[in-house]
Amino acid sequence: MEVLHFLNQQWVDNWPGIKFMFVAYGIGLAIETLRPAETNQSSANIRFNFIHGFFFVLFNSIALSVVSGVGEPIREFLGGPYIQLQFYDSLLGEIGYTFCFILVFDFFYYWLHRLQHKSPWLWAQHKMHHSEKSLNITTHSRFHWLESSFWVFFISIPMGVLFELTPGKLGLIWSVYMLWGFFIHMNLKLSFGWFTGVIAGPQYHRIHHSDLIQHKDKNFSATLPLYDRLFGSYYGPEKNEYPTTGLFDGEDMNNLLVAWFSPFKDWYQQLRSLVKNEDTKVEEKTGDG
Ligand SMILES: [Zn+2]
Ligand SMILES: [Zn+2]
Repeated sequence: MEVLHFLNQQWVDNWPGIKFMFVAYGIGLAIETLRPAETNQSSANIRFNFIHGFFFVLFNSIALSVVSGVGEPIREFLGGPYIQLQFYDSLLGEIGYTFCFILVFDFFYYWLHRLQHKSPWLWAQHKMHHSEKSLNITTHSRFHWLESSFWVFFISIPMGVLFELTPGKLGLIWSVYMLWGFFIHMNLKLSFGWFTGVIAGPQYHRIHHSDLIQHKDKNFSATLPLYDRLFGSYYGPEKNEYPTTGLFDGEDMNNLLVAWFSPFKDWYQQLRSLVKNEDTKVEEKTGDG
């Protein structure tokens, strides 16, 4: 009964968010027709993102609730916050707080995201987002449902241990920050010019989704390309550079079961080859001895 109550509560809590997302997608898709970076996008792709997005919000939230239950004791065990920041109770203080939050959040996001591309274990979960062949506003929820659970360990816990910075304090500003995710995925021919290297926009993020080799492992930041510039992964696109997108092997994951279970299949295979390699090493050693 408790499980049923939990699931019902998840539905009640998430339904307004799902409705908001679908309305935002409708408006976004209409805006995209004005100046698309890519014309004649596959309607089947967009339809899949709508269906997947519905389940993504629910499953992601359920996974996040479970994982947060583990994450909170870990954070408490590690102690902190070790760095105390003082903000004046004024508009300037609010702006300072917001800026610090985004600066710190983006730092941890940048490194998690870079690791998701570097480590085959993390890539198994992240690659679904990159299987998008028609980058558009609906790609915003084309993530595997474990995505936010990784945020707990790579972003929330280290941030909470180091600083007393919580999104709860930010209210509206945090919502705008999250909405930025919708914007950067939009299929828009919109160049920020020299500003591209200052704040992430649709063209900057399109490079990250590109299926061209020269764009591989570039533009990892969520909001501030500053970290790409600092750590050598920045790619400043030309004025009319709007590449095609998708996985390098062209794999299409437009199937709910593939999308939901693909990481587990990959992890199983990775674990098997790891055990196999260990066995080979032991056999070689005993053979030598
Ligand atoms: Zn990525
Ligand atoms: Zn993306």
